[in-house]
Amino acid sequence: MEVYKGIPVSPGVVIGRVVVLGDSRVRVPRRQVKATQVEAEVARFEEAVAASVAELESLRQKAETDLGGEAAKIFAFHQGMLHDRALTEPIRERIRNERVTADYASSAEFRRLAEWFARMSDSSFFTKVDDVWDLERRVLRQLLGEQRTRLSKLEREAVVIAHDLTPSEAASFERGTVMAFATDAGGRTSHTAIVAHALGIPAVVGVGSITDHARDGDTVIIDGDRGVVILHPDEETIREHEAYIERMRLFGLSLADLRDETCETRDGVHVALYGNIEFASEAATVLAQGGLGVGLYRTEFLWLISDHEPSEEEQYTQYAAAVEALRGKVCTFRTLDLGADKYTQSRAEEPERNPFLGLRSIRYSLQNLPMFRRQLRALLRASALGPSRIMFPLITTAMELRQAKMVLHDVMEDLEDEGLAFDRDVPVGMMVESPSAAVMAASFAKECDFFSIGTNDLVQYVLAVDRTNENVASLYTAAHPAVLKLMKEVVRAARRAQIEVSCCGEIAGDIEYTMLLIGIGLRSLSVSPGAIPLVKRVVRSVDIAQCERLARKVGSFDSERQVAAFLRDQARKIIPEAFDGRSVETD
Ligand code: PEP
Ligand code: MG
Repeated sequence: MEVYKGIPVSPGVVIGRVVVLGDSRVRVPRRQVKATQVEAEVARFEEAVAASVAELESLRQKAETDLGGEAAKIFAFHQGMLHDRALTEPIRERIRNERVTADYASSAEFRRLAEWFARMSDSSFFTKVDDVWDLERRVLRQLLGEQRTRLSKLEREAVVIAHDLTPSEAASFERGTVMAFATDAGGRTSHTAIVAHALGIPAVVGVGSITDHARDGDTVIIDGDRGVVILHPDEETIREHEAYIERMRLFGLSLADLRDETCETRDGVHVALYGNIEFASEAATVLAQGGLGVGLYRTEFLWLISDHEPSEEEQYTQYAAAVEALRGKVCTFRTLDLGADKYTQSRAEEPERNPFLGLRSIRYSLQNLPMFRRQLRALLRASALGPSRIMFPLITTAMELRQAKMVLHDVMEDLEDEGLAFDRDVPVGMMVESPSAAVMAASFAKECDFFSIGTNDLVQYVLAVDRTNENVASLYTAAHPAVLKLMKEVVRAARRAQIEVSCCGEIAGDIEYTMLLIGIGLRSLSVSPGAIPLVKRVVRSVDIAQCERLARKVGSFDSERQVAAFLRDQARKIIPEAFDGRSVETD
């Protein structure tokens, strides 16, 4: 039994069988296969070579037409290398002699060849190194690409183990087929983690080197509550986790009774509890879980799962579906938050050096006005079907907010001219998720109808910690007094200006933070739909004076560790059933 500690990003526990997803961006782990699978691996290799040769042939022909014979020679040379038995035979031998996967054997042999060329003092050999790497990537893409499409064809319930997953890869998982996942890389609020929430499957990220150890078919426990991955668990551990899963199932059932109860504290103060969604289909889930409506619709996920920019009509269909599914409850649309780890980098011709500080969110929209206008048209048209709100992401300057509102009003004029229906009074708000927006909240409050505090980004920008980077994950915490101080200021500014302020970062759905958020004055939270019942349960178990006392106490701490430990302790007292008693040591 091997126990690995990672970062819990989506709750729940699953016991299942591993499917390892390879990744051409990382070293391919050495993985052995059964003797009976050896020839199938050799055949996979032959197919990958044949596909690569065919790919090179079409590239050669294209280069010859577009660029001339000289340029086309490079592809002919690559084809020649793949036909050379001096390169391919050692790969077949390695698969057969060492009983390893075609991926590993190819990667290892290409690497050996590249290193051999690199040691040559003759420059004509030396320059071949890049060609070898290029070929390695081409062949691996064939092998691993096939592995990734394998996912969509999975027939049984699987637990995916991968080095890293993009948000769109996770979004393409079939519900009911992929039961959980764990990755070597990733941080607490990476968008891949958020997708796991949306799918309602347990996930652990930042595990370090799990792909070096897991193999297809291994038994594994993914514990998304504690951030633990247990490979080859023993009988007793499996029994213990099965009992825990059952306990949590019963606890979940007991929470279901709260669905139609109001979300108010014991002393009768109402806390508006909304759901965060990524896809229109989740809107109904928000209501089913007892949410008041949608507090954050991350509209960019439609881009993430498409291979083209969705048209106005495609967008409208989705937005209208969400508004209609909410049956009169509000839908808060956030305009495109593309960029950073979402969408643009993988498709960019020149990836940015520092994408989280780059052309993302509202900046991207304001630089791509036709696209932004198409989205606003679709959103406004959907607003005719039910109560909607529009919110802009990552506002950092007053000018951005004003420009975004100007474009919105311009689009309204167009719709009016065209006689298309929309809600003229649609409330317009902004995310407060950059330090500048938080510090200047009082000014911003004069220019918009509501705020939503996005702690996922606020934390990374206040603490200078990349939210997706597992190497600095221990530094990423909303419990840092600097973050809490800023949040308090934002709530105060909003209250003074009498505009609504909500919190839609992941901490809003983390019951360790519920009392603190109420204590600093928040009366509106937007959380992943699955977290609604539990948060409601906490709200109904506390009173305002108690929350304010807790917030004052937290305000006296100067370290995030103190804050985090205190919050955990207090939450455990309120709702001990949500914390577990499993025994596997993780440190
Ligand atoms: C946030 O930053 O807290 C937020 C809710 O937005 P996202 O996670 O989509 O960046
Ligand atoms: Mg954000």
